[in-house]
Amino acid sequence: MDAAKVAQKAWARTPLWKRAELLHKAAAILKEHKAPIAECLVKEIAKPAKDAVSEVVRSGDLVSYTAEEGVRILGEGKLLVSDSFPGNERNKYCLSSKVPLGVVLAIPPFNYPVNLAVSKIGPALIAGNALVLKPPTQGAVAALHMVHCFHLAGFPKGLISCVTGKGSEIGDFLTMHPGVNCISFTGGDTGIAISKKAGMVPLQMELGGKDACIVLEDADLDLVTANIVKGGFSYSGQRCTAVKVVLIMESIADAVVEKVKAKLAKLKVGSPEDDSDITPVVTESSANFIEALVMDAKEKGATFCQEYRREGNLIWPLLLDHVRPDMRIAWEEPFGPVLPVIRINSVEEGIHHCNASNFGLQGCVFTKDINKAIMISDAMETGTVQINSAPARGPDHFPFQGLKDSGIGSQGITNSINMMTKIINDEYSMTKYQANLLWLGLERLVRCESVNRQDGDGDADADPRFVVVARLLGQHYPSNAPPATADRTEVIDD
Ligand code: NAP
Repeated sequence: MDAAKVAQKAWARTPLWKRAELLHKAAAILKEHKAPIAECLVKEIAKPAKDAVSEVVRSGDLVSYTAEEGVRILGEGKLLVSDSFPGNERNKYCLSSKVPLGVVLAIPPFNYPVNLAVSKIGPALIAGNALVLKPPTQGAVAALHMVHCFHLAGFPKGLISCVTGKGSEIGDFLTMHPGVNCISFTGGDTGIAISKKAGMVPLQMELGGKDACIVLEDADLDLVTANIVKGGFSYSGQRCTAVKVVLIMESIADAVVEKVKAKLAKLKVGSPEDDSDITPVVTESSANFIEALVMDAKEKGATFCQEYRREGNLIWPLLLDHVRPDMRIAWEEPFGPVLPVIRINSVEEGIHHCNASNFGLQGCVFTKDINKAIMISDAMETGTVQINSAPARGPDHFPFQGLKDSGIGSQGITNSINMMTKIINDEYSMTKYQANLLWLGLERLVRCESVNRQDGDGDADADPRFVVVARLLGQHYPSNAPPATADRTEVIDD
């Protein structure tokens, strides 16, 4: 933390273009080293080989985009004038700009240890912050290699640190550390506990979800089927935005369940090295948790569309039909290849179930009627509703947020950069004389030297801040200003 504090001070003064240049370099190095990093993801978190490579490449792209976006949005400030607020004259000006927060603590989850780390590292660094990363225990080796790419790019010593260790052991120390100025966390309920313990620092929390998929009678059933399988079972259901409950109209439920069953039978179950669709879930305790949800549904009468099968941490894909609200799986997030189907008799029933959840990450609705789709998506209390496609995080520059227990704040490249900065003002009150000069127009103002001579006071108008404000105000008073001349520019530059 001490090293981060020291490094941050110098980094904040490093020109923005230079910060961007280093980020572009890190992105290139990351992509160059995609193979060994992806191999770690395969071994540590059983991510299918192709998906592991995609995660690293996507991360490189995210870092490059962040550098570009940072240059655009951090290079801008804002000018406000006082007379837009009742009772004020136009005699006070406010220049606001964005400055870094200090040290950002980034804590990503196991399922995207590289991508969800860089989605915090990139915005923090471009904004001029230092970064302390606490990677997930499973995924820590991939994260260390990823951080090494930033070091190879030439970021200053101490600016980016990676602290490994179990969250349950070192988490409190980090999240309650007085040196931390911002926490960006992605994970499960742990985030709720952290929010309660953290001090007065900005929090970005991306937490769990129970993404509902509402299917209407007029939906394209093949499209629905493809999205339920992809949305519910990609990376064995271990995605925050996985489809986690299907709410389907009774009249089409049999047909869709049959179609989904047929597709699930074709999924390859096995090892991540073989690029299987379904691979072992991340830990034995996760597998036990999923099994407990399945057994609870069994006891309460859910219909098993496949036989429940588990070998170690490997769980075969399972669709549970006729799930009812008294079953745990109707509400809890299995984070595994198990998907409940609840049959509904009205759209209102579907919306009610979705909104009764503590979560509010994403949801989706399938219908060919765009008017209904918009009405339903408006009624669903989630951060995003996808129309005719499965929930998904990304593209990475889209805003991404959860309501209720699914999070605080909003991610996405632009939002994260803004979240990791604060706004400071330079406010300037003018004398009546100066304000009058402005009303006369910029061309008189910038010739303030000669005006001063006539006026005889010769001091305040020469204040460089006044000249800066005058220059900005040129945009507001163009009407009677003559075209720019070399002479005029010279005076401004002075
Ligand atoms: P998790 O158990 O909450 O862990 C997330 C991170 O927090 C890990 O790095 C973990 O480290 C760390 N951690 C654990 N205890 C901590 C503590 N007391 N203080 C500080 N950090 C602590 O979540 P997960 O199992 O890795 O990921 C699955 C969850 O993440 C699911 O609920 C999923 O929905 C959610 N998720 C949400 C999003 C989103 O954007 N909304 C995206 C992906 C995943 P250790 O690994 O060392 O325990």
